[in-house]
Amino acid sequence: MRYISTRGNSEPMSFAGAVMEGMVSSGGLFVPEKVPQVDFSKLAGRSYREIAIAVLTPFMGGFDGGEIAACVNEAYTPESFDIPEAVKTVPIGGNRYILELWHGPTAAFKDVALQIMPRFMRFSKVKCKDDSRTLILVATSGDTGKAALEGFKNREGISIAVFYPHGGVSEIQRLQMATTDGNNTHVFAARGNFDDCQSGVKALFGNSGLRDKAALCGVKFSSANSINWGRLCPQIVYYVKSYLDLVSTNVISYGDKIDFCVPTGNFGNILAGYYAKEMGLPIRRLICASNKNNVLTDFFKSGKYNKNRKFHKTMSPSMDILISSNLERFLFEMSGRDAGKVTKWYESLAKDGNFSVDKEVMEKTSGLIEARWVDEEESLKTIGRVYHESKYVMDTHTAVAASAAGGVNRDNDVPVIIASTASPYKFAPDVLTGLGIKLGGDEFESIKALSSSGAGSIHRAVDGLTEKKVLHDKVIDIGEMRETVEQLL
Ligand SMILES: *Cc1c(COP(=O)(O)O)cnc(C)c1O
Repeated sequence: MRYISTRGNSEPMSFAGAVMEGMVSSGGLFVPEKVPQVDFSKLAGRSYREIAIAVLTPFMGGFDGGEIAACVNEAYTPESFDIPEAVKTVPIGGNRYILELWHGPTAAFKDVALQIMPRFMRFSKVKCKDDSRTLILVATSGDTGKAALEGFKNREGISIAVFYPHGGVSEIQRLQMATTDGNNTHVFAARGNFDDCQSGVKALFGNSGLRDKAALCGVKFSSANSINWGRLCPQIVYYVKSYLDLVSTNVISYGDKIDFCVPTGNFGNILAGYYAKEMGLPIRRLICASNKNNVLTDFFKSGKYNKNRKFHKTMSPSMDILISSNLERFLFEMSGRDAGKVTKWYESLAKDGNFSVDKEVMEKTSGLIEARWVDEEESLKTIGRVYHESKYVMDTHTAVAASAAGGVNRDNDVPVIIASTASPYKFAPDVLTGLGIKLGGDEFESIKALSSSGAGSIHRAVDGLTEKKVLHDKVIDIGEMRETVEQLL
C-alpha cells in the first residue's frame, strides 16, 4: 500500500514514509492509494487487538506480521487502558449506544491512536534509514497535547514540542500537560487561539529555511496531529469493534446498517468512520456533530466552507475549531480523488478564508453525512436528560453528539453509536452543571462531587493532578514559535 497526496504534489510514499513525513511540506495530506476491502464479518467475537491487526495490516505495507503485532500488543495493554478491550460499547436506551473511547492514560479518545503511533514511528525510522532526531511538533486545543506527550515521552531518538492556546484550555488540561515528566518533552502556551497554534505549526513545517537549519543539527520534524495518517488509521479499528459488539450482543445481525454520531473538530475521528465504511463496514450514515463553531454544519448544508466567522469558546473546547484539517481528505474522496480541485479549494481557503465545492461533491456527501450543531444550553440539558433516563454520565463533547443524534430524523429501528471522546472527569465542572448540581469550588472539588454522583471511579488521568509538580510554564507569542523551535534544535 502506497500513500498519495490530496494535492498531487508528492511522490507516492510507503506507510513508513507517510508516517515520518506527517504531511506534504508544500501542503497536502497523505491518503492510501486504494481503500482496502476487508470482510469484517469474520472478526465477530474477536478481541480488540485481533481486530486491530486485521484492520491495520492492509494499510501497513512494508511492515511484517511480527512488527504489526508488536505495535498493537504494546499499545493496547491493561496498563495503558483500564478495561480489557481498550474501548467499550454501552447501551443507554432508545437504540442508542455510547462508544467509550477514553479508557487510555489521558482520559481522551486520542490515546487510542497516540499509544500506537510512536510504535509505528520506531519501526518507520529504521525502514526509512532515518538516523536523525525526530522532533514532533503538535498544536493542541487541549487533549491532543497530553495524549501525544504520554505517547512520545522518553522514546529514544524522538522529542516532542506542544503548543496550546494560552488561556484556551481547561485547568485540568493545562495541568495535565504542564506536569508531564520525561526527558524529551516541551510544552508552550501560545498567545492565540487553537487555529493560530495550528496554522503556526503548519507554517513551521512549510518553512524550508527552518527545515534546512534543523537538518544541519540532525533534526527532522514530524507531526502527531491527525494530519498524520499514522494517527488516523488506528481510529478505524474502534468503529469495527463497536459494530461487532452490537453483533455479539444480538442487537443486530452482521450486515445490518447502523449510524455513528461523532463530536467533531478536526474531522479526524469521523473520517476514520468514513474509511471504515469504505472498507466494507455496514454503516448507513455518519452524523457530524458540532458545537457553536458550526463551520462544518454550514459547509455540509451549503457547499461553502467559510472560516471567516466569529470564534466561540465553548464547554467542548476540543471542538472549538474553524479550520477542520481532515476535511481535505474527505473532499479528495468526494471529488473522485481530483487533486486539482482540492488544490484550488485549499489555495482559496489560504488566500480568502473560504471555498465552494461543486454540485457533484454535494450530491455525494448528502446521504453519507448528516451535519448538526448544538448550542451550549442544549448540550447541558442533554447531560441531565441522559442521566435522568439511564443514569449515564457523559462529558460535554459526548453531549454535543448525543444531542445531535437525537435531533436528526431518528429512525428508532436503526441503532446509533455515539462516540464518547472524553471522560466526564476531564470536564467535571460543566458536567456537574448539566447534572443540575451547583457547586462553588474549583475543578478539583467538582471531580470529587462527580464521583459521588454516579460517574464511577475517578479517572486516573485527573486523580492527584494538583499534587504533581508543574514542569512546564513557558508562555510565548504566536510570532515566537519559530525561534522557540530553533532553540530546541
Ligand atoms: C479531539 C477531540 C474531538 C474532536 O475530534 P476530531 O478528530 O478532531 O474531529 C472531540 N472530542 C474530544 C474530547 C477531543 O479530544
